Amino acid sequence: LLTIKGLQKSFGELAVLKDIDLNIGKGKVVTIMGPSGSGKTTLLRCLNGLEIPGQGHFQFHDDFSLDFNQKLRKSEMLQLRRKSGMVFQSYNLFPHKTALENVIEGPVIVQKKDKQTATNEAERLLEKVGLQDKMDLFPHQLSGGQQQRVGIARALAIEPELMLFDEPTSALDPELIGEVLGVIKDLANEGWTMVVVTHEVSFAKHVSDHLIFMDGGYIVEQGDPKEVLEQPKEPRTKQFLNRIL
Ligand code: ATP
Repeated sequence: LLTIKGLQKSFGELAVLKDIDLNIGKGKVVTIMGPSGSGKTTLLRCLNGLEIPGQGHFQFHDDFSLDFNQKLRKSEMLQLRRKSGMVFQSYNLFPHKTALENVIEGPVIVQKKDKQTATNEAERLLEKVGLQDKMDLFPHQLSGGQQQRVGIARALAIEPELMLFDEPTSALDPELIGEVLGVIKDLANEGWTMVVVTHEVSFAKHVSDHLIFMDGGYIVEQGDPKEVLEQPKEPRTKQFLNRIL
């Protein structure tokens, strides 16, 4: 679906992504692991157009390509932004909107969809994530797991090609993690293409097709999740896994 070559991103003097090459196959689930500050969130934000890379190249399967070595047009960045739905660690829901209103916001405001069509679709998505009886509640009336499931429905509502998850369960109490991972697993089984930053080892092993380990702005090691997790080759991967396992 997407091939990334030579991706680099700096914030001032600080080089955060140094030379990222990555291939994301259609229908595949890629998990990203790595220590704090290794550049995982920045990589997702570059994929979603929330950050503009300094250098590199994106090639999508539908012939859409972006060359960050040249100045990009605003329309190209908007096109990139519409390709993916992002699910944030801290949900990022609008606090004064109900679950349903949060989900229809993107389709109605950004995609200019008719409100009734967007509402019907949002109801279907909220049912899909198990929130059929919570549609009219506000975020503060929902548990963390329920809020995150609204976040997932909201990302799906723009009909993205690619779903991006940034540590979707790390703000949740342990007993709520399973319900959110369950929804993400269902999406994987439906064939969604997804990139998931997570330290949930069991999820990475059993749900993802490819695991990337990042450190210091580089992809240090990547491959079959079971292999990387059970027989890491690089000392930095071994060291990190020893800490979290
Ligand atoms: P974590 O697991 O803690 O979320 P991460 O691997 O996702 O970490 P990033 O959030 O991508 O790492 O951050 C990588 C580095 O880039 C950090 O040193 C961070 O301080 C820096 N950074 C991120 N965003 C900005 C920004 N907008 N301005 C300046 N520095 C930034």
